[in-house]
Amino acid sequence: MSKRFGRSGILFVISAPSGAGKTTLVEAIRQTPNLFYSVSCTTRTPRSGEIDGKDYRFLSDADFRTRLGGGDFLEHAQVHGDFYGTLREPILTNLKNGVDVLIDIDTQGAATIRNCDDPVIRQALADVFIMPPDLEELRRRLHKRGTETEQQINRRLETAAREMELWRDYRYTIVSGSVEEDLEKFRHIMAAEGYLSRRMIQK
Ligand code: 5GP
Repeated sequence: MSKRFGRSGILFVISAPSGAGKTTLVEAIRQTPNLFYSVSCTTRTPRSGEIDGKDYRFLSDADFRTRLGGGDFLEHAQVHGDFYGTLREPILTNLKNGVDVLIDIDTQGAATIRNCDDPVIRQALADVFIMPPDLEELRRRLHKRGTETEQQINRRLETAAREMELWRDYRYTIVSGSVEEDLEKFRHIMAAEGYLSRRMIQK
């Protein structure tokens, strides 16, 4: 970009029903240079292989409530019986410094951010829905992952069916194919969002 122009940071919000291959996709997008990934707080138990501070900040119920009371969260929601929350401060700081931010949150969280009062957040927002192929494929993927019981899988599929109704609320929808295809489509969105005139800052 010309020396006379910079641009403000973009807030990429990605929502995808559980098991849609999102974790792999998000892992790949996280490799993008100059992109800050917002690590969510959660009260859910870590899955095997998950690292505290990288995948989530795993908090006790009490710690989560303390942070909630302190106004630390930009949004929070209860998903499958556990609390999840996005920390506000790192997001605002990065956006103000012109750094793009990625957050991976459910449809409730995306709705909260869309309706947020903060003009910096609203201006920065680019929300993307990853539409899983169909519920049967989703069931197969969740079985293959093998981290949930049958009951938990059914619960996740019910949530997925509800969430899949909400794709129209998002600026972009990617109908999920292979991870490589999804990644390529996501990169196109990132590039186009970066060229929006309203994000340009003339120095
Ligand atoms: P999982 O337990 O499978 O990692 O995530 C369950 C759901 O919670 C996913 O849809 C994920 O996007 C969502 N989630 C993760 N972090 C947050 C967060 O900070 N806020 C909200 N609202 N949802 C989140």
